[in-house]
Amino acid sequence: MTRSEQLFEEAKTHLVGGVNSAVRAYTGVGGTPPVIREGHGAWIRDEDGRDYVDYVLSYGPLAVGHAHPQVVSAIQDSVARGTSFGAPTELETRLAATLKDIVPSVEMVRLVNSGTEACMTAVRLARGYTGRDLILKFRGNYHGHVDSLLVQAGSGVATQGIPGSPGVPAGMAATTLSAPFNDLAAAQQVFADYGDRLAGVIVEPVAGNMSCVPPVTGFLEGLRELCDSHDAVLIFDEVMTGFRVSLGGAQAHYGVTPDLTCLGKVIGGGMPVGAVGGRKAVMDYLSPVGPVYQAGTLSGNPVAMTAGLTTLALLREPGAYDAAVSATQRLLAGLEERAAAAGIPLATNQAGTMMGLFFTDAAAVSGFDDVAASDTERFKRFFHGMLAEGVYLAPSPFEAGFVSTAHDEAAINHTLDAAERVFARI
Ligand SMILES: *Cc1c(COP(=O)(O)O)cnc(C)c1O
Repeated sequence: MTRSEQLFEEAKTHLVGGVNSAVRAYTGVGGTPPVIREGHGAWIRDEDGRDYVDYVLSYGPLAVGHAHPQVVSAIQDSVARGTSFGAPTELETRLAATLKDIVPSVEMVRLVNSGTEACMTAVRLARGYTGRDLILKFRGNYHGHVDSLLVQAGSGVATQGIPGSPGVPAGMAATTLSAPFNDLAAAQQVFADYGDRLAGVIVEPVAGNMSCVPPVTGFLEGLRELCDSHDAVLIFDEVMTGFRVSLGGAQAHYGVTPDLTCLGKVIGGGMPVGAVGGRKAVMDYLSPVGPVYQAGTLSGNPVAMTAGLTTLALLREPGAYDAAVSATQRLLAGLEERAAAAGIPLATNQAGTMMGLFFTDAAAVSGFDDVAASDTERFKRFFHGMLAEGVYLAPSPFEAGFVSTAHDEAAINHTLDAAERVFARI
């Protein structure tokens, strides 16, 4: 056994499944996950000293790569002044102001500790603001492990084929209606049937938890119209798409303005942070200004704020984000070229620095069923082949991949060379 395998065996005797988030256990692809010791830039190193180009990036947050020297030193300065106060700090105001500056629809912000918390808060706020109970979500979209949203929820849930989860009361699940992603007619039907009882719609504007699936033309615009005509709240869950689909998220890219936006991942730069932001009239329903209760001991944590602020500043440096998008383009074009040369049908989706790979003949992958219909067995062989070649992909065909500003020529070339060898044997 390698040291990594030994450590994972030991982990399983203390941690449920050896992990603290289900997908990390490799249930979807089989085998043992490498135990990671450190990361620098685009690369991570496991406990046996093996290096991998990382396209997981902690499932999205590390937009400037691992252990960026400026992020590290900013965190060190912040830690030395104390780790938490439970009181107002300048840093949390700075992060909120930065989010308003970058994300078009955000007028007021509440900072929380995770994307799950952001979505939970947004849904409670939509319900409190409208005085209605029902929420519409889309199949294959994931909004964290919030009880009432753990219905038809993509990635971890889709991989395991669990339609929801035991422990979620039927009454709770019944407050969530679901429709197929990218199917505006289905959403219109839900509004026709339940319109006056719908508090809001929550959607990943580019789906990133069933691999990467952009919206079809008119889908987001149509949801905006439905919410307007029924006084329902439109919630964009941009926990993954924020600062990735474009710097201003999917809403800036597609020009559709939600009432509320959930953020997370990149805004914490690798530390635990989430945020809800949006229209002032809706946000002001939150306590202490409004009646909808919300709180958090560590919310707005100064160390996390520092990591987020520094990461966003680096990402906003001229050319930084655009270079990461170009690297993503080059990677996907190179993979398609090499797959074609090996006679392997491969389709790719790109949304900024997010990407999806599908072993399929289909011309377009635009819904959950398309993703599920791709060759998931070949994906497993590809995944393990790439891992052995020093490329770390997410261990499920239902997870998106991510590129950072640290993914340079060398990292992309290493990946393409590896893929050429792997395509030849899968
Ligand atoms: C990751 C993610 C979440 C949950 O965020 P956590 O920080 O894992 O709680 C919610 N929504 C989307 C779209 C996500 O990708």
